[in-house]
Amino acid sequence: MALRNLVLILGDQLDADSPALAAFDATCDRILMAEVAAESTHVPSHKVRTALFLSAMRHFREELVARGYPVDYHALEEPGNPGSLAEALGRAVARHSPRRVMCVEPGEHRVEQALRAVCPTIEYLDDTHFLYTREEFAAHARGRKQLRMEFFYREARRRFGVLMEDGQPVGGAWNFDADNRGAFPAQGPPLHVRPVTFPPDAVTRGVIELVNARFPNNPGSTETFDWPVTRLQALAALEDFITHRLPLFGRFQDAMWRGEPVLFHSRLSAALNLKLLNPREVIAAAEQAYREGLAPLPAVEGVIRQILGWREYVRGIYWLRMPDYGERNALNAHQPLPAFYWTGDTEMNCLRQAIGQTLEHGYAHHIQRLMVTGLYALLLGVEPREVHEWYLAVYADAVEWVELPNTLGMSQFADGGIMASKPYAATGKYIQRMSNYCQGCRYDPAVATGPSACPFTTLYWDFLLRSETQLRRIPAWGCNSTTLRG
Ligand SMILES: Cc1cc2nc3c(=O)[nH]c(=O)nc-3n(C[C@H](O)[C@H](O)[C@H](O)COP(=O)(O)OP(=O)(O)OC[C@H]3O[C@@H](n4cnc5c(N)ncnc54)[C@H](O)[C@@H]3O)c2cc1C
Ligand code: SF4
Repeated sequence: MALRNLVLILGDQLDADSPALAAFDATCDRILMAEVAAESTHVPSHKVRTALFLSAMRHFREELVARGYPVDYHALEEPGNPGSLAEALGRAVARHSPRRVMCVEPGEHRVEQALRAVCPTIEYLDDTHFLYTREEFAAHARGRKQLRMEFFYREARRRFGVLMEDGQPVGGAWNFDADNRGAFPAQGPPLHVRPVTFPPDAVTRGVIELVNARFPNNPGSTETFDWPVTRLQALAALEDFITHRLPLFGRFQDAMWRGEPVLFHSRLSAALNLKLLNPREVIAAAEQAYREGLAPLPAVEGVIRQILGWREYVRGIYWLRMPDYGERNALNAHQPLPAFYWTGDTEMNCLRQAIGQTLEHGYAHHIQRLMVTGLYALLLGVEPREVHEWYLAVYADAVEWVELPNTLGMSQFADGGIMASKPYAATGKYIQRMSNYCQGCRYDPAVATGPSACPFTTLYWDFLLRSETQLRRIPAWGCNSTTLRG
């Protein structure tokens, strides 16, 4: 008998409250899920990233089956695995002849197009995980000359009544940057509780073995894999962040320290992006911590700004500007990505630290991504597409809708100012101020020429000279302010 609905659930759509399941009838509908090699090889995906996706998918499948949902599931190791999402969908359509095929909007333009090519009638449902639909963001953008995050964020705060009182922002200000973003004192970070870890269970161990056998040459190691892979674990990770790290999140949001990958960050991005966690519950938990006096306003506003502001905003930009967004190269940068990005083998200590922990854990916090690996690529003039492919490959939380605007727009200024008002350019002194990396380095951040010159500092001046024509066109590149983070 022909199926009524075939519901495709992608690896980053692991949400039992998905709109695709809202009217599901187990007697006449079917779910399709597929683990496919193409998603780990179109960029050479970090072993942790692939293992995380596969383990979370397998746990979600178990949950669906336990609830009585019929699921067609393709395991990566099964003989005759379809190899790509489009092939998996094409075969399922041929097998079941469903009356309707539906899927929540994918998180990547490439996937959206590939699925439509094989099944032109596929219905894409609004992704209700996000607070703004694509159309709502487009409406926000309409008629605006510039799309600045700050204005979007204020609109979102008002719209959803987050940290608001009588129509005004709680505490009388939208932004507490002056209280936030400090460096650590010389003796280092205050005592803090490391994030709760989730040692691999039998499912994850099986997946790790599979990934290591199947993708031995992909970057990274799975040895320290400890990511949340189920909804319950994701909720435990949220509680752990709110209790132990949120209070100092804002104050040390930009600080870095040797051997301390997470510090006061949440490490929730992967669970959020797989949809094991809903952004609304993270925002609500943070606001409640403030209302109960458990965390100060600057810290709570800081994290809400990231999730209600930046996360929604970058998704909006991605869908508004794709597909040509990915091709932008406003600063005309064409250098190849240095080989050490894949190994961490460099004498520049900051890069060795940030890349080393990335290869070990599939994680680096925002300032390491923006002001260490991203900054070096910007100053060197690396081809933005190569930078983008590296970020998409090496982070456990990487999905294109969030990775691409952050890389191309915020970090490389390749979109010519759609996201950032000017490039995040700085000398090595910024890194010296915000970390202890320079203490263990053979270079000196204050020196621009000669054998001890810090490559960041040398390249900064080269960047200014090289990009002068483009930089002069940027209104925010004022006569007195050469950098955002100088
Ligand atoms: C070059 C570059 C590439 C990036 N690639 C990704 C990516 O592939 N996936 C990804 O989720 N984030 C990406 N980010 C944004 C940010 O760095 C990560 O979300 C963050 O480091 C994840 O760690 P965390 O969960 O501990 O975040 P926290 O610092 O604890 O922040 C809390 C949450 O806010 C959200 N958030 C914070 N900053 C951003 C931002 N700029 N854009 C969107 N959401 C944000 C995340 O969901 C994050 O979990 C990138 C940033 C840069 C500069
Ligand atoms: S001296 Fe330069 S290269 Fe070395 S850690 Fe500092 S910023 Fe990085």
